[in-house]
Amino acid sequence: MFNNNTIQRFNNTETPFYYYDMDVLRNTLDACRDASSKYGFHVHYAMKANFNTKVVDAIQSYGFGADCVSGNEVRSAIEHGFDKGKVVFAGVGKSDKEINAALDADIFCFNVESIQELEIINELAAAKGKVAGIAIRINPNVDAHTHHFITTGLDENKFGINTWQLNDVAETLRKCASLKFLGIHFHVGSQITDMEVYRNLCNRINEMQDWFEDHGFTVKILNTGGGLGVDYYNPDTNGIADFESYFKVFSKFLNVKPGQEVHFELGRAMVAQSASLISRVLYVKNGQKKNFLILDAGMTELMRPMLYQAYHAIENLSQNSKFKIQKLEENQSEIVNPKSEIKYDVVGPICESTDCFRKDVDLPQSYRGDLIAIRTAGAYGEVMASNYNLRDAVQSVYSE
Ligand SMILES: *Cc1c(COP(=O)(O)O)cnc(C)c1O
Repeated sequence: MFNNNTIQRFNNTETPFYYYDMDVLRNTLDACRDASSKYGFHVHYAMKANFNTKVVDAIQSYGFGADCVSGNEVRSAIEHGFDKGKVVFAGVGKSDKEINAALDADIFCFNVESIQELEIINELAAAKGKVAGIAIRINPNVDAHTHHFITTGLDENKFGINTWQLNDVAETLRKCASLKFLGIHFHVGSQITDMEVYRNLCNRINEMQDWFEDHGFTVKILNTGGGLGVDYYNPDTNGIADFESYFKVFSKFLNVKPGQEVHFELGRAMVAQSASLISRVLYVKNGQKKNFLILDAGMTELMRPMLYQAYHAIENLSQNSKFKIQKLEENQSEIVNPKSEIKYDVVGPICESTDCFRKDVDLPQSYRGDLIAIRTAGAYGEVMASNYNLRDAVQSVYSE
């Protein structure tokens, strides 16, 4: 991902910053579009994963829809040129202001997460003389086999409507004249790479759509949510999410009836590999038990390790590139990275003990001023940055 020109450019740029490789982004989006269009599936980009303008513009140019989780995301999606007929709005706590803004924008569908929310959207739509398209977000009680911090589809989670409430949902829908029932929506978690999870989800969706049809509703939309995972361990050798297998599972196990549309809401899988957080070593602290690399980036720039115990590959670009140049001069045709001989705890400068990217990271001997890349940071990275400790806003640099 980083050739010597790129590293040279990093050397002349103030750190920390997010580096976006637009080729990686486009290759990923190509793969996603090709794999989904084979089956006529509709993909909405989950904006919360990354709302960097250049990234969102690139995604919009592919004709994907947008999956939003706040009123501001709805507005931003429309400002970025997403077709309002392809904008969906999810979230367990939509405020009246946000619902009104989405009604004014004539979005395609609200993914509704409680019976009370159904009643409120109905009231607010009626007041505007509008009819709101809605899908019922059902909590399918499917275990995503992912980290429990990012599981959303179990009975114990706050998201969605539980199946034992469906009779009340049906009754409410019949009463609400300003709602148009479009279909059913699911989202079981994030960073899911086990296709068996999606197969289980398909079975639940099939049961649920039968339930609605049996109760006199036409289910036009089957929205399976998002959650497809990426390879945080091998960003270079396995840089594109397995869209092929993912969409194939749904085409095989979902019972799609004539006239139905299948929708997806992918965030992470579309953007994660396109960015790295680039930082510099400020200090090297050698202790008796531990060695620390203290970076000029911390949880204020990338919070995932601290928030979800997430893994990111960490590389010392300066030592790797020095090694490559040396090996090239020695005329070695096959170059592997230098031996990783030291274990460092790679930490940030923030006054919190949790401000650690990873413990016991194998790295070559590292020095003050070395460039460190924290890989696969394109999803839930820059968007979660904060100015805690009154830090400067993190900058973005693009490959073009
Ligand atoms: C966050 C979210 C997504 C996207 O999840 P990824 O794991 O990034 O694919 C999709 N749908 C809903 C409702 C979400 O909240």
